[in-house]
Amino acid sequence: MGPAKPIPILDLTRYDKDLKREIASRVEEVFASGRFVMGPANEAFEKAFAGELGVSQAIGVTSGTDALLVSLMALGVGPGDEVITSAFSFFASAGEVSRLNAKPVFVDIEPATFNLDPSRLEAAVTPRTKVIEPVHLYGQCADMDPILEIGRRRGIPVIEDACQAVGAAYRGRLAGGIGLAAAFSFYPTKNLAAAGDAGAVTTNDDPLADRVRSLRIHGSSVQYHHDRVGGNFRMDAIQAAVLHAKLPRLAAWNERRRAIAARYEGLLGDAARAGRVTLPAEAPGRRHVYHQYVVRVANRNAVRARLAQDGVSTAVFYPVPLHLQECFRDLGYREGSFPEAERAAGEVLALPIFPQLTDEEVDRVAASLLAALP
Ligand SMILES: *Cc1c(COP(=O)(O)O)cnc(C)c1O
Repeated sequence: MGPAKPIPILDLTRYDKDLKREIASRVEEVFASGRFVMGPANEAFEKAFAGELGVSQAIGVTSGTDALLVSLMALGVGPGDEVITSAFSFFASAGEVSRLNAKPVFVDIEPATFNLDPSRLEAAVTPRTKVIEPVHLYGQCADMDPILEIGRRRGIPVIEDACQAVGAAYRGRLAGGIGLAAAFSFYPTKNLAAAGDAGAVTTNDDPLADRVRSLRIHGSSVQYHHDRVGGNFRMDAIQAAVLHAKLPRLAAWNERRRAIAARYEGLLGDAARAGRVTLPAEAPGRRHVYHQYVVRVANRNAVRARLAQDGVSTAVFYPVPLHLQECFRDLGYREGSFPEAERAAGEVLALPIFPQLTDEEVDRVAASLLAALP
């Protein structure tokens, strides 16, 4: 018997033949229409995506990063403003704030969910706070009710960074329709994936949606007349076609992710109860869509190396919390500023999870992890 086949953390080449055909046919329609930017394919996808999330407006843009950027621009974020976000996220959650010459203000996370801790939020609010931007990390919503309550009381809009959480729910509400607006990413590794870069802004606020639509075409609502300075943030029609073909499968893919997570839980539960590993927890009232299945281990490097020997790929999202990034040095944070974010950065380990991963592969990953744990 040869060595077992490697198990990738994500394999984007495992495609259903029917889906390939559906994508090809929608892409052909784009070529037939000759409308490669802002055409009927874009409108059709936006309508379908808004319908899927139960929001009145979805605006397709170039990426999740730009979805955050245009949302903040539409709310007038600029020099002197502060935007509160999680200390533990992908870089874009904070980078877009700095690009507008505003200041990211970080809040530590709840260790159980890896999301912004609402009990620490109010202390970070100042008269300059313009937006509160919680992140739904790994596919689980932040604890939105207390966050929204603080926002309401202090008159500050809440924007969701929902880039990892398409299909996730919080107390019966879907990510993307909980705050004033939300940013989604369709980067190829995300739960709903384009064939390149793409993203969307969702909202139930029609005037805000109009501003976002205008900002994505250079701040113009009538061609060659510019009410404000925007940019080119348009989603390609081919990406809209790919996403539209995939959208009907999203719910089943997310269910499969949840089934894989349940299988990991069954296989690793004893080790977790013995304190050898910490498994991801679905908080009450939330539907986690497991964009990532992230465990905590104490001796991460050794565990990773051992898994790699068995051909099991893993990843670390993210090894450096945002407040310790070199580019944010001037903000004045230091080691110890956010102990939970720092502890997470040192312990998190993402195991393979994607809808096409087989049960047999899940079993091998779990067995390999159990053998690697102290
Ligand atoms: C992926 C991601 C983004 C950025 O999306 P892109 O499409 O890669 O620009 C922003 N925030 C979070 C939390 C993400 O995971």
